[in-house]
Amino acid sequence: MDSQKKYPQAFSLEFFPAKNAESAEKLRETYTQLAPLKPGFVSVTFGAGGSTQERTFDTVREIKQHTGIDVAPHLSCIGSTKDNIRQILHNYKTQSIRRIVALRGDMPSGMREAGEFRFANELVAFIRAETGEHFHIEVAAYPEFHPQAPSAHADLLNFKRKAEAGADGAITQYFYSPDAYFRFVESCEKLGLDLPIVPGIMPITNFVQLARFSDACGAEIPRWLRKRLEAYGDDMKSLRAFGLDVTTKLCGDLLAGGAPGLHFYTMNQAGPTLALWQRLGLQSKGP
Ligand code: FAD
Repeated sequence: MDSQKKYPQAFSLEFFPAKNAESAEKLRETYTQLAPLKPGFVSVTFGAGGSTQERTFDTVREIKQHTGIDVAPHLSCIGSTKDNIRQILHNYKTQSIRRIVALRGDMPSGMREAGEFRFANELVAFIRAETGEHFHIEVAAYPEFHPQAPSAHADLLNFKRKAEAGADGAITQYFYSPDAYFRFVESCEKLGLDLPIVPGIMPITNFVQLARFSDACGAEIPRWLRKRLEAYGDDMKSLRAFGLDVTTKLCGDLLAGGAPGLHFYTMNQAGPTLALWQRLGLQSKGP
C-alpha cells in the first residue's frame, strides 16, 4: 500500500441525473444536504450510448452553480464518435470543468454499433490528445475484476493501459472485502503503477436492489454478509443499521490501511452517506 499512502485522503460523492421533475427535486434536496460536507468533488454519471447526455449536462451545471463544488462528469465512450466526444469535451472546457471520469460504459440493449471507441483506454488517450492536461482524468478500477475480463491478470493489464494512456487516478467498483482492494493495489504496485486508487463505497440500504446491482456489475457480496442481509427480510430499519455498521467498518479498515480517500455512491440519497461520513468523522476533511 506504499503507493497509496503518500496521497492526501480525498472524499467525493457520486450522483446520477434525475429522470423526472420529482426525482430532480429529490436530487436537489440531496446535494443541498450533502454540500456542507465539502467533498473534494462530486461526480455525475452518464448513461452509456449517450442515453442521459442532456440530463448529465444539466445536472453538472446545476450542481456546480448551486454548490460551487467541483463537479466531475462521467463520460462513457461506447457507441460514440470522436466528433461527439470532442464536442462534449469542448462544452465542459468552456464551463471550466477540470475533472472527468472516463469510462467505456456498457452497450445499451438494442444498440449494435460500438462506435469509434472500443475500450476506456482509447477514450483516455483521446481526451489527452484533444485537451492536453486540462482535465484531471479518473478511470474505473475493479478490485474483484470486471465481469467481462477473461482473467484477473488481463483485467489488471487493462487497468495498466488506462493508467499509461494518461489517467491521473482511479475510483473502484464497490466491494465489501477490504482484502480485495489491498490485493488489487499490491498487484498494481508490482506492475509499477502509481496513481491514487480510491475505493468506491456503496451504502447498504436495500438488499434486493444491492443483490441485483452486484450480479450485474460483478461486485461480490460475501456469503456471510448476504446471509445476514437476507435474514432481515422486510425489517429495513434493522437492515440499514446493520449495513451502516458494516460499511463504517469497511471504510475505517480501508483508511487505516492507507486508502487515499473514499468515493461514495450516494444513489441520490443523503441519509446513508451523511450517516457514514459522520460516523467516520470525515466532516473536516474537505478542501
Ligand atoms: P474498460 O476499462 O474499457 O474495460 C471493459 C472490459 O474490457 C474489461 O473487462 C477489460 O478487462 C476489457 N478490456 C479493456 N481493454 C481491452 C483490450 N484492449 N482487449 C480486450 N479486453 C479489454 N457506466 C456508465 O454507463 N456510466 C457511468 O457513469 C458509469 N460510471 C462508473 C463509475 C465507476 C467508478 C465505475 C467503477 C463504473 C462505472 N460505470 C459506468 C460502469 C462501467 O461503464 C462498466 O463497468 C463497463 O462495463 C466498463 O467500463 P470501463 O470504463 O471500466 O471499461
